[in-house]
Amino acid sequence: MKYIIGNWKMNGNISEKKSLFSALAKVKTRNKIVICLPFTLLNGENYGITIGAQDISNHENGAYTGDISATMLTASGVKYVIIGHSERRKNHNETNEIVKDKAEIAIKHKITPVICVGETAKEKDSGKTKSVIKKMLMQSIPDSGKYIIAYEPRWAIGSGKTPTMDEIANAIKTIYENLPTPVPILYGGSVNKDNAHDIISVPHIDGLLIGGASLKSKTFIPIIKSIE
Ligand code: PEP
Repeated sequence: MKYIIGNWKMNGNISEKKSLFSALAKVKTRNKIVICLPFTLLNGENYGITIGAQDISNHENGAYTGDISATMLTASGVKYVIIGHSERRKNHNETNEIVKDKAEIAIKHKITPVICVGETAKEKDSGKTKSVIKKMLMQSIPDSGKYIIAYEPRWAIGSGKTPTMDEIANAIKTIYENLPTPVPILYGGSVNKDNAHDIISVPHIDGLLIGGASLKSKTFIPIIKSIE
């Protein structure tokens, strides 16, 4: 079983959710499909599709305007949450320590965190991919519990550029060798129907995290079919 996790980011409305989810409900797959929706779309009909969120507060409740708690997410049926996506690390100054706190609170509330790690273009060009990943991993992962790691090179997100298969394999190997216990490892960054099969075949990859291509059935379902 592989994970195919969609990240809608700040996109989508009720009718677009209905359109994708009803199409997904008809797809036969042995893999695990999860769609991480914006908060406004977390309630309502899910057509049997597992839903995730894109962030979670590291506090239980209280005076945290604009934040969403683990309890609120579980009450909305959320089973997974993306944590430490590079867009949140960059736009909201989320540090590894905050990411770890968020992962731990998610686990406490039985939501599986999908913890993102990955290097910038500058770090890649200066040969720091391995050390950056190791540091992010060591500082972001929870002390115990069930979680997923997503390797997302920052420069590959939404850019149409993907690493070579050797580069992906090396980064995934670094993650695999530095995890205290084996957990699923996903790749994310400009996945499409033409590259999904090759990427999923890289050793130790347990799934894909898909942004832009997860918004429409026309682009998402061919990816699901390509790795069946
Ligand atoms: C993402 O945002 O997690 C992502 C992988 O985006 P994209 O597939 O659009 O590169």
